[in-house]
Amino acid sequence: MRALAVFPGRRELSTIDVPAPQRRGERDVTVRIREVGICGTDREICELQHGTPPAGSERLVLGHEALGEVVEVSSGVRTLHPGDLVALTVRRPCDVPTCVACRAGRQDFCVTGRFVERGIKGADGYLTERVVEDERYLVRVPHRLADVGVLVEPLTIAAKAAVDLDAILRRYPWEPIGLRALVLGAGPIGLLAAMMLVARDMETFVYSLEPADGDRAQLTRSFGAEYVSARDTPLAELASRIGVTDVVFEAVGTAKVAFGALAALAPNGVFILSGVPGGKRPIEIDLDGIMRDIVLKNQVLFGTVNASRSAFEAAVRQLEQFMGLFPDAVRGLITRRAKLDEAPDLLRRPSGIKSVVTLAA
Ligand SMILES: [Zn+2]
Ligand SMILES: [Zn+2]
Repeated sequence: MRALAVFPGRRELSTIDVPAPQRRGERDVTVRIREVGICGTDREICELQHGTPPAGSERLVLGHEALGEVVEVSSGVRTLHPGDLVALTVRRPCDVPTCVACRAGRQDFCVTGRFVERGIKGADGYLTERVVEDERYLVRVPHRLADVGVLVEPLTIAAKAAVDLDAILRRYPWEPIGLRALVLGAGPIGLLAAMMLVARDMETFVYSLEPADGDRAQLTRSFGAEYVSARDTPLAELASRIGVTDVVFEAVGTAKVAFGALAALAPNGVFILSGVPGGKRPIEIDLDGIMRDIVLKNQVLFGTVNASRSAFEAAVRQLEQFMGLFPDAVRGLITRRAKLDEAPDLLRRPSGIKSVVTLAA
């Protein structure tokens, strides 16, 4: 069975042969992997910025954005059957008895940092032909979403943020209607977040580097958001160009852009941070001004990482809604499909919006 693995010690990325996994537990499911999306996290693991092989192993099988098909189930499996399509969750709970988050099945909120993540940290990923997984970590995807189901995992970032956003919006003693939103960054996460905000009836702007007549701008407009190019509107002018927005969703991973856009956040607004900056050098920003704004405008900033099973289920429902509203835009997010042999090239030379490795039809 083939797999794509990173060997950190040898600084190498290669296709390897691995033994087919065996079901052992009562609730184990054998899943044939159909498609795996590639993202910046995979590229950073290849560049050895992060990523850890399983304990005792010299290599890490990559891939965490997977859609698969159930082929066999153990006798105790109740929720899945052969032929079902599934999205595979990524994070597994830590083993610390006092971690209330993991003990409650919410390892996305793990407080010890001792969790593992398939394809990222301490556990092999999904860029392989078959995996075995406990049914509790698999979320059923309707067959009608077969061609876009690989987007469920990246969509969980917006789906989880939406739950927290709703909780924060409930602090208003009035109905929050007619909200406006700004998304920073037109990568897959940003565009999926923008779709989520449009689907929630918010007037939505996407601000990114690509030109106003480019593919991403056109795709943005096709699902009902407005695209603002950083080439025409410098960050400092963004608030005066579009006005203030009640929600800002950051998906660029740079503090300079994130905090530079704080001027566009309305009083009582909510700012969601989802990017992980790789920068190691300090940058200069007006922290006094930022703090003053947050206090005097009752603003909320929160970060969001990973996703719970409930966020995966919400992402499946959300994707169904998107496919009803703007199916071509959703399909347009997947700009390249390639075979496993071509995966190293996809990782080294990113292009388009979302590249996907197809392992089985
Ligand atoms: Zn990813
Ligand atoms: Zn934990």
